[in-house]
Amino acid sequence: MKLKNDKYKKARGGYSRLLNIACQKCGSSICQYQKDGAGSLRRMYVDRIIDPKISLDRKDLTCPKGHLLGVKIIYEKEKRPAFRLFVDSVVKKIIKV
Ligand SMILES: [Zn+2]
Repeated sequence: MKLKNDKYKKARGGYSRLLNIACQKCGSSICQYQKDGAGSLRRMYVDRIIDPKISLDRKDLTCPKGHLLGVKIIYEKEKRPAFRLFVDSVVKKIIKV
């Protein structure tokens, strides 16, 4: 497993973690995610989503059982597609790499 190392990561201090993302309501696995920088996970950039179990082409982010987790946005500062997560919609677990 190789983490991406690019301008987005540099802009966030050059520090990344790999997270396992699951639905808060039902525990269904959503994806793995490379979180760059410190702070809480408020949005997931599409280019950092690894091994998704769900469709990334839709406007909404839903778990395999249909729970709504977030909505697609473009992060204007970087013109970068992302999903804005609803508060407490997902559980995160750090994966050791
Ligand atoms: Zn769910």
